[in-house]
Formats: sequence, structure tokens, C-alpha cells
Amino acid sequence: MSEEREKVEEVRTAFLNEFDRFRDLDLSTATLASADEVSRELAELKVRHTGKKSAIAGTMKLIGRVAPEERSAFGQLVQSVEKDIVSMIEAAEAKLSEFISDARIERERLDVTLPGRRPRTGHLHLITILRQRIEDIFVSMGYHIEDDREIETDYYNFDALNIPDGHPARESQDTFYTTDGFALRSQTSTVQIRAMERRGVPIRIIAPGKVFRRDTPDMTHVPMFHQIEGLCVDKDITMAHLKGTVTEWLQRLFGSDTVTRFRPSYFPFTEPSAEFDFSCFKCRGTGQFEGERCRPCKGSGWIELGGSGMVHPNVLRAVGVDPGVYSGFAFGFGLERMCAMMYSLDDIRLMFDNDVRFLEQFR
Ligand SMILES: [Zn+2]
Repeated sequence: MSEEREKVEEVRTAFLNEFDRFRDLDLSTATLASADEVSRELAELKVRHTGKKSAIAGTMKLIGRVAPEERSAFGQLVQSVEKDIVSMIEAAEAKLSEFISDARIERERLDVTLPGRRPRTGHLHLITILRQRIEDIFVSMGYHIEDDREIETDYYNFDALNIPDGHPARESQDTFYTTDGFALRSQTSTVQIRAMERRGVPIRIIAPGKVFRRDTPDMTHVPMFHQIEGLCVDKDITMAHLKGTVTEWLQRLFGSDTVTRFRPSYFPFTEPSAEFDFSCFKCRGTGQFEGERCRPCKGSGWIELGGSGMVHPNVLRAVGVDPGVYSGFAFGFGLERMCAMMYSLDDIRLMFDNDVRFLEQFR
């Protein structure tokens, strides 16, 4: 064999040695990542062994040294070796790329029979839901919704509400004070005063809002909670209007067979004053539910909700309204207590913990 043909055989042998690991590729245990790696190595080998700068292309330059009658056969040899190299590499490439393509499809395959994932969406807090239901009822009865500041002067929090100096509610054990002497309102009744100053009378408003008391949090107390306050002032307003209004909104909320009951009480800003109860929404006032003692009303058939009364003449005077001409009623109650009772919650702090697992139950 001529020296030149030997050179071609050397190049072929060198290629076959290097290519050996890509021949009969076993991909049975390969992963997508390992196949990608093999594919990169094969591409490097291809760059070295094919193209104009490869060793096999270099051997073509030897043709000048070959005897003229052998040049044609030599050229064919070089070309056939070159063709073998390319086809071996291409066969390995095809096998790899098929494996990689299958592996990607497998990885990205969609199982259309899987149940969909429900996107998590927010919703209103249970206190907000109840507040809005009550607001809707009062708006339909011709009431305006009022809100005002939560930090108040002693005048609006106490004086104008006929709460005398020395009354226990004024004590700093009960009321939060800022360092410069303002009070965090301890009831939404402050809004009555501001609304009457702003709008004058006659007036019909409800005032939902936050109130603050110096209570240590426990199952039934929190230092900040929500109240709804109602106020109606006009000529000839009587206790009958108060009872009719309270009964009406409770019936709209809990059903037309709901009855109310008023028990004499005392509040500085109303005279006469009464606490109001309504017949239990669960046992419909019987005290028994499904053969057991009813939970929300503790078997009494009645649920205590809030305080009410006829607006004290001193409160009307404080805003420049003549109690000889105008009269009015007011009532107020706490939303957290109402929610706790409606949903049988043992601990009102649950409503402030922002635990999604709890809140999600009240969409
Ligand atoms: Zn009951």
C-alpha cells in the first residue's frame, strides 16, 4: 500500500477510535440531561472530523504525490472515507436527537384528564360581609352611611354624649389616650354628634366603624372591634319608631318571624334606655335545636344584641337641636359578637388572626 493510502487509513483509524463510544449508543438508562451532554460531545467530534480543516480533508492534498494512474482511485478512497465518517456521525446524531425530542415531549406532556387547579382568589372578610348586608338594609330604609375619625377629643367621645366627669368610661383603664390627650373613640356614638353638626336635623344615619377599649384579649374581648350605630332624629319620633326599626332590620336579616324584646337599661346618652334582644335565628325562639339545647341562644330562645334608647335631650342640646321640637332614637351593637353568634365561633379572636384556613370558610 502506498504511503498516501496508509495516511488515509491512519486518519480513518483515529476517527474510529474516537467515534467508538458513539457507535451503538445505548440510551436505555439515559436522562434528558445526560443525552444533551453526549450530544454536545458528538458535536465537538463532528467539528474536528468533518469539514475543510479536518484530517481527512487534509489527506486530499497528498494526491499530487500519487502516481498519475492511481490518482482517480485515491480520490475515490478519500471521498468514500469522508462519506463514511459523515454518515456514521449523522446516524449517531439522528439517534440522539430522537431520544432528546421524545424525552422533552414526555417531560412536557399535558394530562388533559387531570382536574384543573383552582386559582386562589381573595374574598371579603366575614365582618365586612355582615356589615355590608346590614348597610344595604338600612340604605333601603332611607338611611345614610356615615363614618368619621377614630381619634377624638374628650368633647366628642364623652361631653357631647352626656357622659359626666368621673364616669367610669372616662377612666384611662377603659379608654386609650394618645400622649397628647386625644381619645381613641370608645363607641361609634361620636359619629352621631359629628353627623348632626354637619347635616343638622332631621337625620337618619347608620355609622359602622372601629371602636377601641382597653380590654385584654380573651375569647370574648378584643381591644379593637366594630360597632354599628344607628340614629334617627325628627319631629315626633317615639320609642315605637325605635322598636319598629330594630325589629324591621332584624326581620330582614333573620326572617320575618323574628321577634324583638326591649329590656330597660341605662346609658348616659339615651333616656329612656333599653337593651334589645331578638328571637334566636337558629331555634326560632324555642331554645331547642335538633333535640338539644340551642347553642347561639344557650337554650333561652333569645339573643342579646345591643343597646338603644331615646336620644338624651342633653345630646340634642350639645349640637344645637331643640329637644322641645325634635326627638330621636339611637341604637348600637357589636359586629364581632354578632358574627361569633351567627357562625357559632367560640373565640372572637379568630376574626383577627388572618388565618386563611379559617377565613376561607366564609365566602
Ligand atoms: Zn336558639
